[in-house]
Amino acid sequence: MISGGSCLGQKPWPYKPGVAENYAGVIHSTDPSAFASIVYVGQQAKTVFDRRANNNNGGRIKIEAHVFTITWSDSLSSKLLANPDIGDLTTVTAQAERHARIVGLLPHCLRSLIDRIVLHGGNMALGGGNRGLLLYSERTMRHETKAGKLHEIMLHEAAHNLGQIMQRSPEWVAAQNSDNAFISKYAQDFPQREDVSESFLAWFILRYHRHRITEEQANTIRDQIPARLKYFDEQNYHMSPVEADAGGPRE
Ligand SMILES: [Zn+2]
Repeated sequence: MISGGSCLGQKPWPYKPGVAENYAGVIHSTDPSAFASIVYVGQQAKTVFDRRANNNNGGRIKIEAHVFTITWSDSLSSKLLANPDIGDLTTVTAQAERHARIVGLLPHCLRSLIDRIVLHGGNMALGGGNRGLLLYSERTMRHETKAGKLHEIMLHEAAHNLGQIMQRSPEWVAAQNSDNAFISKYAQDFPQREDVSESFLAWFILRYHRHRITEEQANTIRDQIPARLKYFDEQNYHMSPVEADAGGPRE
């Protein structure tokens, strides 16, 4: 799960204002989720990435993970490995299901790239990459209840799995060059690692939740990254269970 090309494995991860902060709360907890079922497999010895290892520099640790299989309503499935530090099995199971419902809000095109969700207790930065998600239950709760940006952060992190596939493609680089601008300071500071995640989140908000943002916010996205928007439009991603919000047609 460690890679220099994604959020995972980056040590000290400097906080930069990003799209999730600028558009916090646009994605709602009550939006459709593809979560269908979760089954407890049992406890298994697993090696997982944890930012808390090596004095918070991050590293791989061995845990007796509580393993779950999540089935999504569109036939996909993902494994969830939960760290016993979350609590007893009842608590772990509740947290596993809570996070499965949250991940279920992600569109098919991103969930199809998630083989493994690692869920720790604790309050560290979430991450995505190498066909996985790295989650911390205290942090997701904070994002949900205090910052109100949980689902925007989740989309950003999940989009790292997409970014690893296409962020060096000629078509994407051409779109970046054509726009000659970024959607956020975070994308600008890390144009290779963060731009896909930041731009995908902005595209998602504009195309599926246009009526939940202001005209000014919509214009910012249109003006900053028109070529990237066109790039994402042309991919014809499978977006279920995401629906355009009820205020009008999909932009
Ligand atoms: Zn990121």
